[in-house]
Amino acid sequence: MPEGDTIHRLARALSPIWVGARVERLWLREHGEVETLRGARVHEVSALGKHLLVGLLGEREAWVLHTHLGMPGRWHPASEGAPWRQREVPAVELAVAGDVPPWRCTRPATCELLRRRALRLHPELLRLGPDLLAPPVPLDAVLRRARRSPNALAAELLLDQRVACGLGNVYKNELLFLFGVHPRTAVAALADDEITALFRRGAELLAANLGPGRRRTRGLGDAAPRGPRFWVYDRAGRPCLRCGETICLERVGDAARVTYWCPRCQADARTRERRAPDALAGAAPEGHSLHTRRVGRRVGGPL
Ligand SMILES: [Zn+2]
Repeated sequence: MPEGDTIHRLARALSPIWVGARVERLWLREHGEVETLRGARVHEVSALGKHLLVGLLGEREAWVLHTHLGMPGRWHPASEGAPWRQREVPAVELAVAGDVPPWRCTRPATCELLRRRALRLHPELLRLGPDLLAPPVPLDAVLRRARRSPNALAAELLLDQRVACGLGNVYKNELLFLFGVHPRTAVAALADDEITALFRRGAELLAANLGPGRRRTRGLGDAAPRGPRFWVYDRAGRPCLRCGETICLERVGDAARVTYWCPRCQADARTRERRAPDALAGAAPEGHSLHTRRVGRRVGGPL
């Protein structure tokens, strides 16, 4: 699932092969080939949260190719001239001069070509909070943004890209577990230092996953990590790796995002006592819900 680390890794991979190169062909599914940008120079490939921005210097104007992969989207190289199957018609294909295969983006949530000067007025990008992969992260600003939605749920807070951008559903689940926060805890019930600790650790986890290898939140730094890569994510019905309780699955928030949690380590939102993240193992499993339901209200768009 693409999260901020995925897009920053992608930008780091594409920069050396694209930046400085001339565009041979930019093809957009909605427009066909953009002939005015044939010969344009790629001057920047950057990530902003989960958004990839490719800067293009045309003859007269500067442009930006903006993509957001959503959940199923991906950028991938393709052999030049290789046919694409109908169901995988890409949203965009970019070929640059040199011994580099074209790259295609399939099934993105957003794919658009913008004039660079329009970027600062972009309705989605304008609202983004600080990028957790752009240190130093201004945690005081993140906290202020978090406090704008006191009735949001903790599970929604971490996904709200207007608060801070980069975290997705995998890190949301893992962070709430690591800090013993029930996903249905209201933001208003979280202390300032809990909120900043969640985002600080989120930034650390994102940064720790910028290298090669599959994303993980367990065994980071181990030479040969063993066991599950995650504490709770995608582990519904299996025993908690900390306390042995069965991991639950709920769809939480107005967006009904899949949420995994341990009913023992993450005490119920209505009754839980605040505690330090390292003192969670003995928490009582009170009042947890095992059935799937939608709770909460919408706090953000699909940024
Ligand atoms: Zn547990």
